[in-house]
Amino acid sequence: MRPAMKPLKPLDEALADLLAQAQPLPGTDTVTTFDADGRVLAQSCVSALQVPPQDNSSMDGYAVRCADVAAAGVVLPVSQRIPAGSAGDPLLPGTAARIFTGAPVPAGADAILMQEDCEALAAADGLGSVRINAVPQARQWIRSAGEDITRGAVVLSAGTRLTPAELGLAASIGLHQLQVARRPRVALFSTGDELVMPGEVPPEQMRPGAIYNSNRFFLRAMLLRLGCEVTDFGIVPDRRDATIDALRQASSAHDLILTSGGVSVGEEDHIKPAVETLGTLDLWQIAMKPGKPFAYGQIPREGGAAHFMGLPGNPVSSFLTFALLVRPFVLRLQGVQDVAPQAVAVRADFTWPKADKRREFLRVRLNAAGGLDLFSNQSSGVLTSAAWGDGVVDNPAGQTIAPGDTVQFIAFSELLG
Ligand code: AMP
Ligand code: MG
Repeated sequence: MRPAMKPLKPLDEALADLLAQAQPLPGTDTVTTFDADGRVLAQSCVSALQVPPQDNSSMDGYAVRCADVAAAGVVLPVSQRIPAGSAGDPLLPGTAARIFTGAPVPAGADAILMQEDCEALAAADGLGSVRINAVPQARQWIRSAGEDITRGAVVLSAGTRLTPAELGLAASIGLHQLQVARRPRVALFSTGDELVMPGEVPPEQMRPGAIYNSNRFFLRAMLLRLGCEVTDFGIVPDRRDATIDALRQASSAHDLILTSGGVSVGEEDHIKPAVETLGTLDLWQIAMKPGKPFAYGQIPREGGAAHFMGLPGNPVSSFLTFALLVRPFVLRLQGVQDVAPQAVAVRADFTWPKADKRREFLRVRLNAAGGLDLFSNQSSGVLTSAAWGDGVVDNPAGQTIAPGDTVQFIAFSELLG
């Protein structure tokens, strides 16, 4: 009699179970703001000043008091010149100040006229005068002090993953160094006797049954994008002793051990018995397609335990289980709270006639008409689908799709970065 099948585990439940184990790693790094792209803030950034620091001109032109320009054509003597970077004197009533973009608005002035609305009248000595050909509105072309950031504001909160705009924002409040979460240390290895590294054997000399190791390349790249320090242990042969040795070695200095392949329950799948020799392991059958086999465990080591995650070997399964399960976990290790990818409603321009029992992630591409096209081969072994696509449709179990239906689209920018 065949053993009873365990019910499939819903993806959301698997993710919640994983995140419950993802305590932020102890320790932080201090890095220069220049080097902080992609890192996660360990400490909130509070502004010690307002930005802009004072009212300043957003145009090259003249600063005036509106009361002095009741009608177009008024001529005012120019009493001072204020380039960016210098502070002017209070504006004498009945005069104008020549002013340039970014320069502080002098006390007393309440509007800027752009130079296109003015006519400079030269004089033999001094700054001459200016004819003003427009009636100003109060505060026109003035950028107000503090309109971007007020003093004491939390500009960036702890747990923020820094992007280029945020580096600029941190710099705008004078921060040249930032406290960030330390990088998770991840050990990566691939299992499978069929695997050959590109570069080791040329295509025409590949032995029958051999394939190139592709998972190692995208898994490593995705880990690096997520801010991890990666140690690549290469390919581990399909033998229990070799697998145990590799795991033991990896567990000592890593926060996470990530493997691909060997998590099914065939005789050639050694991950489960090997991890169980050293620690604990749960093998899950996740209700997702592609995907399904996934393992989570822990291997004790001095001062705690290394997390273990085993991904399926099929390339697209590996790719998507990484994106949907490992990525949020690795971000949470760094203190990121909001780790859910954003799905958006988009029109399907394709047919998906056969519903599946599992929640499916279909590789699709955005077309110029704002709809989604489907890659023709959705097999879990066809990595071309992931390279071709812009993202996936998150299709609930039991759901067919007809052209014009609204579906949930998750862009790869939400899953891979
Ligand atoms: P497994 O999960 O070990 O049973 O592998 C499932 C399928 O994925 C098999 O066809 C393997 O040859 C393939 N596979 C496993 N690991 C890799 C890898 N690193 N790169 C490319 N294909 C792989
Ligand atoms: Mg295998």
